[in-house]
Amino acid sequence: MISREVKQRLISIVGKENYDDSKAGRLVYSYDATPQFQSLPDAVIAPRNTKEVSEIVKVCNEHRIPIVPRGSGTNLCAGTCPTEGGIVLIFKHMNKILEIDEENLTVTVQPGVITLDLIKAVEAKGLFYPPDPSSMKISTIGGNINENSGGLRGLKYGVTRDYVMALEVVLANGDVIRTGGKLAKDVAGYDLTRLFVGSEGTLGIITEATLKLIPMPETKKTMLALYQDLEAAARSVSKIIANKIIPTTLEFLDQPTLEVVEAYTQIGLPTDVKAVLLIEQDGPSEVVERDMKKMAEICKEEQAVSVKVAQSEAEADALRTARRSALSALARLKPTTILEDATVPRSEIAKMVKAINEIAEKYHVKICTFGHAGDGNLHPTCPTDARDREEIERVEKAFAEIFAKAIELGGTITGEHGVGVMKAPYLEWKLGREGIAAMKAIKNALDPNNIMNPGKVFAKSTRKRVVITR
Ligand SMILES: Cc1cc2nc3c(=O)[nH]c(=O)nc-3n(C[C@H](O)[C@H](O)[C@H](O)COP(=O)(O)OP(=O)(O)OC[C@H]3O[C@@H](n4cnc5c(N)ncnc54)[C@H](O)[C@@H]3O)c2cc1C
Repeated sequence: MISREVKQRLISIVGKENYDDSKAGRLVYSYDATPQFQSLPDAVIAPRNTKEVSEIVKVCNEHRIPIVPRGSGTNLCAGTCPTEGGIVLIFKHMNKILEIDEENLTVTVQPGVITLDLIKAVEAKGLFYPPDPSSMKISTIGGNINENSGGLRGLKYGVTRDYVMALEVVLANGDVIRTGGKLAKDVAGYDLTRLFVGSEGTLGIITEATLKLIPMPETKKTMLALYQDLEAAARSVSKIIANKIIPTTLEFLDQPTLEVVEAYTQIGLPTDVKAVLLIEQDGPSEVVERDMKKMAEICKEEQAVSVKVAQSEAEADALRTARRSALSALARLKPTTILEDATVPRSEIAKMVKAINEIAEKYHVKICTFGHAGDGNLHPTCPTDARDREEIERVEKAFAEIFAKAIELGGTITGEHGVGVMKAPYLEWKLGREGIAAMKAIKNALDPNNIMNPGKVFAKSTRKRVVITR
């Protein structure tokens, strides 16, 4: 609860119009894109600048009020669900592109900038910001940095972490620090920039970021390989990489996913095959031609029934858009869609796909799988109904077994969606007790009063997902 006196102090910082504790306002920010989690915050605050963020944090630290920083709430790990109440901090006023530096190849932004707006702004200058999560039309840079988001171009170009050069961060005591800089080389002290990337709002609030840009690739080609055998598609992925080709994109969709994506996008995707690979390469035209030819040969050797290169940018874009809409398309099937993020070394993709299908069968649940096959990052997705507790129990068990299998194969419980509340019960499986203790020591040092996004990353005693209502 926020007392009347504290409320007045917070309003004096941001103004009445930027402080909302109405029931409707709080309800809107009580959940995010993750199914089954909901909890009301005490207030929603929209600061206008770093100074206001710092002052808000000081008040909250003094009164032990939880702070949940929030971009667009598209995370899939309940990372912005205010499980312990407190305030949700939104960045609708802090959404400016501050500078595009063409000499140093950097862009400096406020946290509320929408990812696609940034990508378009730099492309207008012939520059390239590769991280492209499928949610990029709505996700923010602040959210991308805090989840260390990946995307379709991650195989060749890496993830958000690889592009964060400098940060301005408000710490839990209200101090404002700057990490990194526009520097190709910098080894002055601990790498705090990397520490904050992927920290899910639990260590500090990012109020500014400087990101690396690269020149736009000259050309790009896209092709679709169709398979009647899931494992043959997975084998093609490993073989392409083993042939020393790193394509920009190497995405996988299984038949159930294809069917719903085609029903949703109606672009003429085949629905009578077991799997497709969406493959792209960019760069100088001779390299692109050579790689596309070699990859087509590999796919055919691995029993692809058809390999087709997109004939125009419009056709290629339709294929990319279709892949990006996989989650939205699957969400139409049932009232609840649980999407997971199991990731394995790419050499283990075939085994993981097989295991997912066997686990789905064992627990009598429908699991559609798509994902960034080239990164070993699969999204087994279960259309279900949260009201059917018996089915949900089976879904929980199936996913726990999928995570265990991913770890057994040398993988992880999340490749890009983060831990939040959703994966917290499983984090110890990946890090071990000692790993968790090291992470807790960092958290305690930077946020001794546990006000920064509490209840996230570190598990409470229960291993079960819960619906939380306050
Ligand atoms: C349809 C769909 C497709 C998706 N596709 C992908 C994909 O391809 N790849 C991928 O990686 N993810 C994907 N996601 C997940 C999600 O979009 C990403 O995690 C994204 O980065 C979240 O951005 P956001 O602005 O919505 O952040 P939010 O969900 O609002 O927040 C994410 C985390 O960042 C923290 N945070 C936000 N802003 C700040 C800040 N300024 N300072 C400190 N902490 C902050 C929050 O507390 C939270 O922990 C997808 C989600 C959906 C719904």
